[in-house]
Amino acid sequence: MTTKGPWDVLIIGGGLAGLTCALQLSKAGVQVLVIEKQPYPHHRVCGEYVSNEVLPHLNSLGIDPFAAGAKPITRFEMSTKKGALLSTELPLGGFGISRYAFDNLLYEAVKNKADILFETVESVTFSNEMFSVSTLNRNTYKAAYVVGAFGKRSQLDISLKRSFIQQKSPWLGVKMHYQAEFPDDLVALHNFEGGYCGLSKTETDVVNACYLTTYASFKHHGNIAAFQQNVLAKNPHLAAFFSDAIPVFEKPLTISQISFEQKKPVADHIFMIGDSAGLIHPLCGNGMAMAIHGAKLFSERYLAAGQQGGIHREQLEMDYTRAWKTTFEKRLRTGRRIQSALLHPIAAKVGLGLVKSMPSILPHIIKKTHGTLV
Ligand SMILES: Cc1cc2nc3c(=O)[nH]c(=O)nc-3n(C[C@H](O)[C@H](O)[C@H](O)COP(=O)(O)OP(=O)(O)OC[C@H]3O[C@@H](n4cnc5c(N)ncnc54)[C@H](O)[C@@H]3O)c2cc1C
Repeated sequence: MTTKGPWDVLIIGGGLAGLTCALQLSKAGVQVLVIEKQPYPHHRVCGEYVSNEVLPHLNSLGIDPFAAGAKPITRFEMSTKKGALLSTELPLGGFGISRYAFDNLLYEAVKNKADILFETVESVTFSNEMFSVSTLNRNTYKAAYVVGAFGKRSQLDISLKRSFIQQKSPWLGVKMHYQAEFPDDLVALHNFEGGYCGLSKTETDVVNACYLTTYASFKHHGNIAAFQQNVLAKNPHLAAFFSDAIPVFEKPLTISQISFEQKKPVADHIFMIGDSAGLIHPLCGNGMAMAIHGAKLFSERYLAAGQQGGIHREQLEMDYTRAWKTTFEKRLRTGRRIQSALLHPIAAKVGLGLVKSMPSILPHIIKKTHGTLV
């Protein structure tokens, strides 16, 4: 049992938000500690399509996803449950890279600039302008500022008594890599009864298939193979994909209790970034860019406050909350509306019929769930 510190900033969670935040702050000379519970590299349930929104920012941090083999993606196609197809060029475009490679690329960039420890944070307390962050190993780390980058759902949300964690969420996610024929430059979103499945290629030339569904849809089928056979395969595009695709993992990765409830960008003086501040519906393909963009919003404000002769905590909390809401609230709302329309049988039929008759609407809808280049 030890007590160490203080650091200027302690970041809980080393996913995309936590690692890019650590990189930006440590490059500017801030003493940063990241505490992450899992060693790198590791796979995660994720669609693995990243919007180009954050490409300039990643490049400014010295990160080049294409040098790591990411596939440039410029086209989007979407199908209804019965297989009617819509397609468009993506307004901003993006790239396909596995989380195994992407998080590890960032970790390699951060590890010589910031301190990184592999432990699970259990509790956070704040008194006399100082945080104490305790881990399961009974170690305590002190810091003047704490950033919460611990993802969509963590034990920590329970200990922080965050309101969204009290409610059960019906959503679950499944992800698997496959060897299959699939264009490099395409991201596809195929609907099925009770959910949707994204397909896109990653740096290793495999196709990532990742779907979101509800526990209620899933439970009648008992297991993933039966669910894919009985439900996903009713969409002819998914039927064709799964009939030829060869799984790369021994079994799919799954996560449950995915919550899309509203959260606060600052809670108990902790600056929340990425999914800890709010998760956009995955069909928007924008959660990773939002996580990286949110980290940038915090880092820029923290660094600017430091340069202006000292950080005023309350002011920083207000500035960050305002910036977060202005930047992300509208697209979260649009994402919620699109998801509920897509899963509603009549709304989906009318909406998709409308887009089919006026295909030029589709890029406008996509733009509403994405930001501009940062
Ligand atoms: C089914 C599905 C598909 C998706 N598809 C896409 C997509 O195609 N494109 C897209 O842009 N977004 C997609 N998203 C969203 C995207 O995955 C997230 O928005 C993104 O991962 C958020 O990054 P983050 O850094 O906030 O969180 P995470 O990447 O989840 O990182 C959080 C980190 O915190 C660590 N952690 C948690 N608790 C603790 C603790 N107590 N102590 C220490 N460490 C802790 C975790 O181990 C993890 O490393 C999808 C999401 C889902 C659910």
